[in-house]
This record gives sequence, structure tokens and C-alpha cells, in this order.
Amino acid sequence: MRTVYLNGDYVAEQDAKVSIFDRGFMFGDGIYEVTAVIDGQLIDFPGHMQRLRRSLGEIGMTMPLDEDGLARIHHHLIEDNALREGLVYLQVTRGTQDRNFLYPSTDTPQTLVLYTQAKAVIDSPLAKRGLTLISVPDLRWQRSDIKTTQLLYACMAKEMAKAEGADDAWLVRDGAVTEGSSNNAFIVTRDGAVVTRELSRALLPGITRGVLLDLIERDGLRLEERPFTLEEAYAAAEAFVTSSTSFVYPVVNLDGRAIGNGSPGPITQRLRQRYIDRVHDLIH
Ligand code: PMP
Repeated sequence: MRTVYLNGDYVAEQDAKVSIFDRGFMFGDGIYEVTAVIDGQLIDFPGHMQRLRRSLGEIGMTMPLDEDGLARIHHHLIEDNALREGLVYLQVTRGTQDRNFLYPSTDTPQTLVLYTQAKAVIDSPLAKRGLTLISVPDLRWQRSDIKTTQLLYACMAKEMAKAEGADDAWLVRDGAVTEGSSNNAFIVTRDGAVVTRELSRALLPGITRGVLLDLIERDGLRLEERPFTLEEAYAAAEAFVTSSTSFVYPVVNLDGRAIGNGSPGPITQRLRQRYIDRVHDLIH
């Protein structure tokens, strides 16, 4: 059984209770972050904290604790739960008040929750097999750059994928792919360019995406940050997704059409290895 963090206390997971009047529960009024853990160490923690600060600022909230304080909680949970490989989730809501759409006064205590999840990120079967995807319309609100806990459409998209026997979904807005339901979307064109949508309010600025763009350029690959259509994706040589929970996963099928030859592509596999090599450099 896990130890989790709730508002200053480390408690057994079944004892961690939040009010029914918490705004996170009532309105999805909160922000979250997810940081990967490899060999008991946090990966790209400063980037995640920077994005947390930005997401909070965009909805008029402040950091619940300073970065050092949050790092201490992450490390405490990793130790207590003997986490070697997996994830630490952090969620912060605007706190608890009697039901009212308007924000409570700024001295209302936020609710801060952190918990660990064990997961094999590096030795993942999906990294070898590759994902099958469907495309669905991107019906989320128009601030997908903010990492809010309001994840209902991501849940719906994953359910739609499951109903069709696929692993996950890519979201399409105005004829172009914005991102995956919980990852950033990339294709490799037949002439070898790596294409991913440029940052805007339409997608989350993935921490993994940012790191991978560096690795792509260092590898001498041509990078194009622009929207791409489903037709381009169907015709691509390769496709992949990035996230802290997967690093780089190949995409082998989209809407029932094989991508490339229907198995993980060589550039995708190389970039995944480069990403893992960098992670190992960070922690050793
Ligand atoms: N887009 C969405 C919608 C996500 O939920 C995630 C994962 N949190 C990502 C992209 C990837 O972001 P990161 O690389 O920071 O995990």
C-alpha cells in the first residue's frame, strides 16, 4: 500500500480524504504535473516545475510551495514507496468552499496531493510493439496549453479508441492533428523530416517534446514545427508520440491504416534510444 502526500501530511493512501466541496472535485478547478522517475531519480524536474508555475498562473493560482519544498515531497514519496521506476503525480486545486462558481478569496488553502505510480517506462512492451491509434475530433476547450485536472475529453477519447480496439487517439482540429489524448504527436515524412505541431493554445507544451526537439536537431534530422493533416499522417514513413509516461512510443497504425510498413520505424527507435541515453546521462 502506498504512502501519499496530502496537505502537509504523509498518509496511507486509504486515509487520504478530500472534501466533497473541493473545487477540484466540483469544477475540475486544478492543475497537475507528472514527472518520470528512473532509478529512483526525477527526470527533468525543473521543466515540470516551470510548467506547473505557468499553468497555475494562467488560471490565477500561485505555487503551493516553492520548488525546493515540492522537490522534498517528491523525494520523500520516492523513498517511502521505494519507487525505482515510474511516475510522481502532483495535483493542486483552488481549495474548498461552499459551492460557488466564483473563486474563493486568495487566502483559501489550496489542496495539494502527490502520489507515486510504479511503471516500467524504459522496458515497455508498447515501445516494442507500437501503438494503434484512431483519430477523433478535438472537442476540448481552447486552452489545452494549461495542464488542468479537467481531463474528461481525454478519458472519452481513450474510451472511443478502446471501443474500436485501438490503444489511443489523436485529436484533430481544423483539419490538423493537435496532439494525442495524453501525449504529443509526431510524424516522419517519406523524405525524412520530423514534423510536430508548433506550440500554441491548442496543445500542451510537453516537457518530453521539448527535450526531443533538441535531440532531433542534434541528430542532424530536419525538424518542421507546423500542423500536419491526417492524410499526411496516413502517408508518413513513421509516426510516434512523446510523454513523460512513455518517453517515445512508436505509432504503427492510424484509423486502420498501417504507418510505413506497420512496425516501429528506425528513426523513431533511434530517437527513443537517444532519449533513454540522455536519461541515463542525467542520473549517472
Ligand atoms: N499532451 C497532453 C494532452 C498530455 O496530457 C501530455 C502528458 N501529460 C503530454 C502532451 C506530454 O507532456 P509531457 O511530455 O510533459 O509528459
